[in-house]
Amino acid sequence: MNKNINLSKVVLEDYLNLVKFVEQETERMQNLHTKHITCKKGCSSCCLSFRIFSVEKDIIYKTLLENDIALPLHNENTETTCKYLVNGDCSIYQYRPIMCRTHGFPLLYLNEDEDAYEFSGCELNFSTIDMSEVVIENCIMMDDINKKLFTINETYLADNKIVPNEDELLCNW
Ligand code: SF4
Repeated sequence: MNKNINLSKVVLEDYLNLVKFVEQETERMQNLHTKHITCKKGCSSCCLSFRIFSVEKDIIYKTLLENDIALPLHNENTETTCKYLVNGDCSIYQYRPIMCRTHGFPLLYLNEDEDAYEFSGCELNFSTIDMSEVVIENCIMMDDINKKLFTINETYLADNKIVPNEDELLCNW
């Protein structure tokens, strides 16, 4: 993370409030879908390399540095595995990105035409789910979360006078 980066109180609070909301949602899902959710320490099937908004990456890096938690020695994920996965466990679990917090739970995304929702759920948890059980009320609405994260990132980029092109909106985690 660039030391000169401007991370405003508003951006940080908005991000932390979003994390709080996601945590509440995942707790609600855990209670609603107890019979399906088999996630447990040691399962790392979803810990793959992915891309996130720079605001989230920078906030997490800043938090890790403030808490004296070493950043990975190598800066890149392997092709398939997240660099924070150490001996099968997440080494930064408390500070992990929002996407990691939603893994394993039933998620809904609007399709490309924005006229229907698509279900996404870990196959280890939801291989047997009756799709008639899948309704808006018992899934996490990912578009709302991603839109909020997008807006927080926009503010962050504007605060830092960064004008990324579309390809640079997301960065490697
Ligand atoms: S940050 Fe942690 S939970 Fe997220 S993919 Fe990496 S190892 Fe897994």
